[in-house]
Amino acid sequence: MNSKKVEEISESLEAMHKFAQIYAKQTNTFFCFDPSITSVVITGLANYKNKYGVPLCPCRNYHNEKAEIDLNYWICPCVSMRERKECHCTLFLKPDQEYASQTQKIDIDTIYENL
Ligand code: SF4
Repeated sequence: MNSKKVEEISESLEAMHKFAQIYAKQTNTFFCFDPSITSVVITGLANYKNKYGVPLCPCRNYHNEKAEIDLNYWICPCVSMRERKECHCTLFLKPDQEYASQTQKIDIDTIYENL
């Protein structure tokens, strides 16, 4: 990602970084053992937040992103996460799930390194 783009999304990136750590703690979920996965998902959320002001789920394809925002289903934390603790992006994993680490923290520098 070029430096102009990084600068453009840095505020959203920091907001989503904070959100992910707090929400993992609140829900007793954990990040993936591979921090590059966590980084990519947080960056994807930040890109949408930067574009629309809300973090649409970055792991889906949308025919119409604005319509999806109006539906409010795939705005993170999405309905499946809120209702059943199911995160399809491997951002928030239950402790016994495959790929779950034991951490609810990720360094912001790790996210920047994976941009
Ligand atoms: S699947 Fe849901 S909780 Fe997971 S990143 Fe996407 S919107 Fe967020």
